[in-house]
Amino acid sequence: MNTVPPTEPAFRTGTIAVLGRPNVGKSTLVNALVGAKVSIVSPRPQTTRHRLLGIASFPEGQLLLVDTPGIHGQQKRAMNRMMNRAARGAVEGVDAAMLVIEAGRWTDDDALAYRALKDSGLPCVLVINKVDKFPDKGALLPFMAEVTREREFSSVYPLSALRKRGLEGLVKTLLKLVPESQALYADDEITDRSERFLAGELVREQLMTRLGEELPYSATVEIEKFELDGEMLRIAAVVWVEREGQKPIVIGKGGDRLKAISTGARIGMEKLFGRKVFLETWCRVREGWSDDEAALRRFGYSD
Ligand code: GDP
Ligand code: MG
Repeated sequence: MNTVPPTEPAFRTGTIAVLGRPNVGKSTLVNALVGAKVSIVSPRPQTTRHRLLGIASFPEGQLLLVDTPGIHGQQKRAMNRMMNRAARGAVEGVDAAMLVIEAGRWTDDDALAYRALKDSGLPCVLVINKVDKFPDKGALLPFMAEVTREREFSSVYPLSALRKRGLEGLVKTLLKLVPESQALYADDEITDRSERFLAGELVREQLMTRLGEELPYSATVEIEKFELDGEMLRIAAVVWVEREGQKPIVIGKGGDRLKAISTGARIGMEKLFGRKVFLETWCRVREGWSDDEAALRRFGYSD
């Protein structure tokens, strides 16, 4: 008879940086692993402007995922330089990293992100995302072979963050890369950011989605009021633009566009916060805010 009690597999907890060029699906992947929209997503590159922790809890462990603005070669404005610094700084103090790329493509900015990771010396998992829209499934293996040739990855996962396909194997591998440790957050916590911050991001997500070409990059959001009134949240948001001429574009005919932005953001907030939200939204001008370090700090940008 065996009297030795079976040993429980140890609980593991650690931090994983999520890196890659803009628009490959880093935030979508973080949200899929967390199981809630903690990081905003849009079809436009450079939607994520801040470093943010997504907390993904599993029976076997807890992964703290550092979502980052994408690393990219062009860095004209102070805000873009700050975003690059935030992305590169994300590798400090973490246990491992994921490099996210898009199936079928390897660009100069992918190479830039790869080099930043190599310099960090961290174990790195390669995630080949968006396999759902990769036309030729037969070409996936040759693509995997090509990108991993002469580059070091601890493992490679082709998956679809959008459709939540192929995530189980990735989670298992990531948990092996982090140390044995108790959970650092309660298992119902999903991010290190405040609800006030997330509210601002949800308004910005609507700007990214609903404004044409250049304008989303000239706009930012400040939450002026965030108050619990009984069961309801009362929130006031200001959309800051860089020039007077941009205001009518944000506001739209008869206020239509700002109304749609506000409604979209409110629905996202009610879902995320699990309560009713009363949201007021204004549009104001602050000239040149995105190249003004003081304005950037006031609006919550930091590296
Ligand atoms: P990030 O800039 O790397 O954080 O990318 P986002 O997460 O903001 O995603 C950029 C765009 O790619 C969005 O339109 C997403 O819906 C889309 N996307 C992300 N993951 C997938 C995926 O697995 N499949 C497809 N088809 N689209 C995806
Ligand atoms: Mg992002």
